[in-house]
Amino acid sequence: MKAHDGMFIDGAWRPAAGPDVIEVVNPADEQVIATVPAGTAEDVDAAVRAARAALPGWAATPPAERAARLAALRDRLEARRDEIAGTVTAELGAPLKLSQTVHAGVPIAVAGSYAELAAAYSFEEKAGNSTILHEPVGVVGAITPWNYPLHQIVAKVAPALAAGCTVVVKPAEDTPLVARLFAETVQEAGIPAGVVNLVTGLGPVAGQALAEHPGVDLLSFTGSTAVGRRIGAIATGMVKKVALELGGKSANVILPSADLARAVNVGVANVMSNSGQTCSAWTRMLVHRDQYDEAVELAAAAAAKYGDRIGPLVNATQQQRVRGYIEKGVAEGARLVAGGPESPREKGYYVSPTVFADVTPEMAIAQEEIFGPVLSVLRYDDEEEALRIANGTVYGLAGAVWAGSEEEAVAFARRMETGQVDINGGRFNPLAPFGGYKQSGVGRELGVHGLTEYLQTKSLQF
Ligand code: NAP
Ligand code: MG
Repeated sequence: MKAHDGMFIDGAWRPAAGPDVIEVVNPADEQVIATVPAGTAEDVDAAVRAARAALPGWAATPPAERAARLAALRDRLEARRDEIAGTVTAELGAPLKLSQTVHAGVPIAVAGSYAELAAAYSFEEKAGNSTILHEPVGVVGAITPWNYPLHQIVAKVAPALAAGCTVVVKPAEDTPLVARLFAETVQEAGIPAGVVNLVTGLGPVAGQALAEHPGVDLLSFTGSTAVGRRIGAIATGMVKKVALELGGKSANVILPSADLARAVNVGVANVMSNSGQTCSAWTRMLVHRDQYDEAVELAAAAAAKYGDRIGPLVNATQQQRVRGYIEKGVAEGARLVAGGPESPREKGYYVSPTVFADVTPEMAIAQEEIFGPVLSVLRYDDEEEALRIANGTVYGLAGAVWAGSEEEAVAFARRMETGQVDINGGRFNPLAPFGGYKQSGVGRELGVHGLTEYLQTKSLQF
């Protein structure tokens, strides 16, 4: 058990204002592995002041130099890849291989992409007799969740830095250790004091203080729709810019011409990865009625293979919540074909990979974000019905379409109300804008679209 102290504020580890701490638990064995300080409004205020003081200098730093610091940050993350992976495995419970490839690998790629974008982006353009300047929005408040704990920090901090903004990060209480490791790499990369600050703490205390702070110009939040709606309203009321990356209930649409076995197997893997704690997971599989029974059989078999290969959920509350949804699915009349609500192990917050058949679109398990290893398989009669079901939730974050030809899949994808669609198993692209239609959010992360979120424009007329 390691007792960490200090918050990373103004380029140094400084004592927290209050005495309270947060216990960090390893969800695989329920042991307390560390404590970190629980920041208060006072710590948040110190961090925002540091960010504000650092803003003019960083905003005036030439983009090429900002790019060089981001490249150094990428290199420091790469150098500490194994440590990052081990830390995420300890505090989130993700299997080590997933931690290495995704939890460490993706943020390294994203940091690298913003080193390149900072150097290449035109922060000035001409339109008629005007010169348009793309200037940093200012001080960014970043509130992040635990499910991809380093990725979600880097997906906000890297574009903010590329744009010339300064940042205060409030990471999730369940995963503060990789956030602290990130702050160390910021220091090692030679990023000037105050440009990136970290305050660990509880959402309703430190998070709320950050959302309400008048010194924050842009609030970027990733997490639940309930919290996002509330703090988005607070920040908007103060005329701050707001970016929200919220939940999802994405559809995996398998058209009759698709390679059914491949579509089902990739679809199940997509849901079970990270124990289902992925906002963009394809948690609704849509299959034509003629192929339905075969698809259900394939999905049940694929899920059974995951039995002891997935990690636990992040904490006991999430485990209870997910088990509650599985019970609800049974009560609603859906048919369990894999998994179930019982805990597969004595210790740790595990949930069995679960597949429901005979799910109908109005059921809670087909409408609400479960955030666990639970797949719902729905039946459709024709393409129009598939589209109605796919678009029939309040969310619109991601999705997939499988068909015999790319053209057919793309034609369907164009009609989906969602921010990203993978065509016949398309690969993750760190440059592709990521974000939600409808209640899945406001704004985009990653790539050039993620960069422009952190810019505001000024026009000079000649
Ligand atoms: P959450 O409460 O929305 O947490 C996200 C972040 O917001 C955390 O840093 C959290 O701090 C902070 N926060 C909580 N209440 C706040 C407040 N009143 N003011 C300011 N910040 C606040 O999410 P959760 O409770 O951890 O997870 C619940 C559900 O949210 C999940 O089951 C899932 O459906 C959804 N979720 C979605 C995503 C996504 O990527 N879209 C990620 C995580 C969760 P604490 O860590 O201290 O609570
Ligand atoms: Mg919470």
